[in-house]
Amino acid sequence: MSLNKKSVDDFCAKGRRVLVRCDFNVPLKAGVITDDTRIVAALPTINKLLNDGAKVILCSHLGKVKNGPNEDESLAPVAKRLAEKLGKPVNFVADYNVTGAAATAAVEAMKEGDVVLLQNTRFRGSEETKNGEAFSKELADLCDDYVCDAFGSSHRAHASVAGVTDVVRAKGGNCAVGYLMQKEINFLGNAVENPVRPFVAILGGAKVADKLNVINNLLEKCDTLIIGGGMAFTFLKAKGYEIGKSLVDLEKIDYCKEMMAKAEKLGKNLLLPIDTGIAAGFPNPIDAPIDVTYVDSDKIPADMEGLDIGPKTCKLFADAAKAAKTVVWNGPMGVFENPVLAKGTIAVAEALAEAEATTIIGGGDSAAACNQLGFADKMSHISTSGGASLEFLEGKELPGVAAADDVCGRKKIIAGNWKMNMTPTQAVELCGTLKDLVKNDDVDVVYCVPAIDIVPVVAAVKDSNVKVGAENFYIEDKGAFTGEISAPMLLDAGVEYVIIGHSERRDIFGENDILINAKVKKAFAAGLKPILCCGESLALRKAGTYKEWIRRQIKWDLDGICACNVKNLVIAYEPIWAIGTGETATAEQAQEVCKLIRDYIAELYDADTAAKVRIQYGGSMNAGNAAELLAMPDIDGGLIGGASLKADFGKIVNYNK
Ligand code: PEP
Repeated sequence: MSLNKKSVDDFCAKGRRVLVRCDFNVPLKAGVITDDTRIVAALPTINKLLNDGAKVILCSHLGKVKNGPNEDESLAPVAKRLAEKLGKPVNFVADYNVTGAAATAAVEAMKEGDVVLLQNTRFRGSEETKNGEAFSKELADLCDDYVCDAFGSSHRAHASVAGVTDVVRAKGGNCAVGYLMQKEINFLGNAVENPVRPFVAILGGAKVADKLNVINNLLEKCDTLIIGGGMAFTFLKAKGYEIGKSLVDLEKIDYCKEMMAKAEKLGKNLLLPIDTGIAAGFPNPIDAPIDVTYVDSDKIPADMEGLDIGPKTCKLFADAAKAAKTVVWNGPMGVFENPVLAKGTIAVAEALAEAEATTIIGGGDSAAACNQLGFADKMSHISTSGGASLEFLEGKELPGVAAADDVCGRKKIIAGNWKMNMTPTQAVELCGTLKDLVKNDDVDVVYCVPAIDIVPVVAAVKDSNVKVGAENFYIEDKGAFTGEISAPMLLDAGVEYVIIGHSERRDIFGENDILINAKVKKAFAAGLKPILCCGESLALRKAGTYKEWIRRQIKWDLDGICACNVKNLVIAYEPIWAIGTGETATAEQAQEVCKLIRDYIAELYDADTAAKVRIQYGGSMNAGNAAELLAMPDIDGGLIGGASLKADFGKIVNYNK
């Protein structure tokens, strides 16, 4: 699973209806919110979208909703508090149906910068929790784009987290993550997949059984694995120690032995408590005064119970944490709710607070311990969710994370431009011929086909890696425009990309930069991905003025297009003298202009936008010259005419094999 996800910075939300899945599962007492941390945490994403001019539709669950919709679990108090925090009205749709007629009417009445909050998604019962298709579609029908900012729900494949994204994506919308989600993914993802070493993982908490997969996964990723808390006693027992009345999971003794053997085999440091704080029994109530003594961990008397790590262990664990560059901590070291038994947890928290390392705290008890003991602001990141962060550390794919679009990272894009070739029958035949030849996960493969071939080609490439593009479209949605085809028509037929400003449309059909610019704007607004063509004639090349020409085309064609849209743009540099002539630009000539375009985008926008825009070369690209052209640093793919109509196209797509 890629963790490089599209964020709210990576698409243009202006004028669009954006559904944001938040985590507004706040604690309530008699209808009053007792802690609004989760509402406050959602504000940066909401404000960013509002500032961009989006129509922001918010949804969330609240509570478990065990007995069906009810006023106690309504999001009404959230709407009120959110309006105070945002300093603007929040139109709350109280309807228990969540997505019914009231929601549709509220969304239809929205203007840019308005906020609507839908009712508790769990009021739809199993339609939400079982990822129901109908509810997913109803949610998707309310919006153009979707943003998930509910990390605490991202380990659940619910309709408002997972199912909705399939429908939004299918209609050309963006599925992105909000700032909260992005931060969680960055910290937890980097720690587990790409840690700065030494990487130390500290696990605690009561039961081994709760963390079987976490131990197994982290053992493979980290350099040192520290085990404290109640779960350490099962490991100590597995070592043959007497552990008195301490918590033990007898069924997991063999598992602990297996993990200790695995650590040894992998050359990993597995640290267990060497001394233990013991008492006659568990404190009752939990914060009751208690008499604690410290003994070596192999000398716990039969009538005593281990309830915390001892001072020698505190030093051992703290030294390991301080030597680390990355530390992940999940689970307290003892019964930290009792001040006498909090010493081990405090020692670990203190060590992390002092450590130079990136320190990441899994949610749940360890987050509560950090907050309660006053160390929260000393940690690099405290996860907002126990359950989701634990599944992340287990190496599991989180449905809410997987559902967001990947940032393509300038993945190569090989697009065929069929021009006015192929009858529908021939088109289907060609799809059949190419079917097995164009499989390559490293590249995006697109067939841009004549309008009449779109429907059969979409059907022919269904369930394959091939996306379908149009060769042209018009800027209006419908009406008296004889011979034209609109963005909604293309989207409805399953088209994802559209070529805009091909030199043949400019030269033969008289399209100018004003119309081309309007088409780029319309494509983005509608959810089509434009492939914008530019390129110079032979005369301009010979005259040596081609660079100025290209810059002028780019400037005019991108006039008024925002950076976040340009990041999702494909530009095809197609020198007219090389199109259909068999005369290819050399790799150096093509690279020179593709770099010039990228540098110019940096000048018009910024370096980040320039680094993200994909630039293709087009002009007699074929199986013989593709590899050399595509090896150039600023060439991110090809737009291919003649060679896209034969088996050769498969060789171009597989240029890197
Ligand atoms: C094109 O028309 O976009 C093109 C690049 O054609 P060819 O590959 O045939 O030169």
